Amino acid sequence: MSPSPVAIITHHDYPLSYYADTANPHAVRPALEGQKQVDVCIIGGGYTGLSAALHCAERGFSTALVESKRIGWGASGRNGGQAIPGWRHGARDMVDQFGVERAKALFGLAIEARDHLWDRIARHDIQCDAKRGHFLAAAKKADLDWLADEQECLESVMGYRYTSLLDRAGAAATVASERYHGGLIDKSGGHLHPLNLAIGLADAAEAAGAAVHETTRIQKFEQTRAGIVCESNRGRIIAKYVVVACDSYVEELDAGLAKRIMPVANYNIATEPLEEDLARSLIPGDVAVSDTRFVVNYFRLSPDRRLLFGGGEKYTPTPPDNTVDFVRRHMLKVFPQLAETEVDYAWGGPVSITTSRYPHVGRQGNIFFAHGYSGQGVILASFMGKLIAEAMAGTAERFDLVANLPTRAFPGGRLLRSPLYVAAMLWYALRDRL
Ligand SMILES: Cc1cc2nc3c(=O)[nH]c(=O)nc-3n(C[C@H](O)[C@H](O)[C@H](O)COP(=O)(O)OP(=O)(O)OC[C@H]3O[C@@H](n4cnc5c(N)ncnc54)[C@H](O)[C@@H]3O)c2cc1C
Repeated sequence: MSPSPVAIITHHDYPLSYYADTANPHAVRPALEGQKQVDVCIIGGGYTGLSAALHCAERGFSTALVESKRIGWGASGRNGGQAIPGWRHGARDMVDQFGVERAKALFGLAIEARDHLWDRIARHDIQCDAKRGHFLAAAKKADLDWLADEQECLESVMGYRYTSLLDRAGAAATVASERYHGGLIDKSGGHLHPLNLAIGLADAAEAAGAAVHETTRIQKFEQTRAGIVCESNRGRIIAKYVVVACDSYVEELDAGLAKRIMPVANYNIATEPLEEDLARSLIPGDVAVSDTRFVVNYFRLSPDRRLLFGGGEKYTPTPPDNTVDFVRRHMLKVFPQLAETEVDYAWGGPVSITTSRYPHVGRQGNIFFAHGYSGQGVILASFMGKLIAEAMAGTAERFDLVANLPTRAFPGGRLLRSPLYVAAMLWYALRDRL
């Protein structure tokens, strides 16, 4: 049984954001005390850890999740809320890289991940303002060619019939911006309140029997004869299996795993609530929008008619001097009609990417890990726990399909990888301007 909550709060202890301010009332989970023996210890309370907790508990494993801060404190509580089906690479790229059979198997998993998200939101009655529809907007005219090719591959190879290709007029009817030449709309994607999704998954995991502990940082873990001993700042967990679900924050716990990911700071703003007519005119179908730029602009409307806009990345550790201005200039390029609109919130967080843009997933004995979703974690991270629990229970075929995706360590080692990578990323970002 999970310990009973000790208080109900709305937004304390989270970095200030629109999402923290509009989080559903939720339990503060007690820190770990003393020693506990379980089948599975999960480290990290974002989508990866929460879905692992939910699926492990549903399979009958005794399960404890520990989060160093609060549930959804990391990327899962501050992301753009865009549920974009598929992997970071398109279907055509995957066919070219892996051949038809393997690409179809991987694509099939991504579609299952999409269905899994909508199904779990419905099944656990998670109040996270979930809406359907995602539009990938073509920032350059030339992008329409590969989008047309992508749609052809989606339909003819993958049998995927959820997308429509829009021309310039179609794009203008979808987003009130001069910037887009067309795009691909996927009616099975969508958007949601990310922190409320995390909170809902935590409730579901507890209801399934998992114990959830907040404000408990695992400092180290080691395999012993008695099991894997996880030492925290509070107590200790001895487990048969461990799931490392720390994503961008894994470095302190496991420097080896951290070599495969690079945290890239990404920023968001929320405008003041817009007049109803203005809000409706911006995105009439209320879909999520992201564009084809290397440094992606992504945006959507909130239920209280704010524009939530993400744009601009920083490859150096220092935050922008003024986060509002940093993101707002991207917003005004897309929507100059918002020049007089106030911005009420600005926040940011690290998005972890891999060299290949496929997640880095695997196991070392009884220690499982998954991270580096490269901007696709709303759907994929929420699903990884299912594959991890499945592998733990003895069927690893689907887990292995993902674990075998190629990722390499970032070049340059711990100290050098950042400057080398910054140079490469700046070059790609520059290409957006050409
Ligand atoms: C600004 C931003 C915008 C994004 N937009 C989108 C989007 O629109 N769509 C999309 O699909 N993806 C998006 N992403 C990516 C997505 O949010 C992530 O892929 C996903 O949330 C990763 O989930 P996670 O559980 O693996 O990691 P996280 O949510 O980061 O969770 C990791 C947790 O581990 C905890 N932790 C770390 N170390 C320890 C320790 N030693 N002991 C205990 N706990 C520990 C941390 O406190 C943290 O809460 C965005 C990310 C950011 C930052």
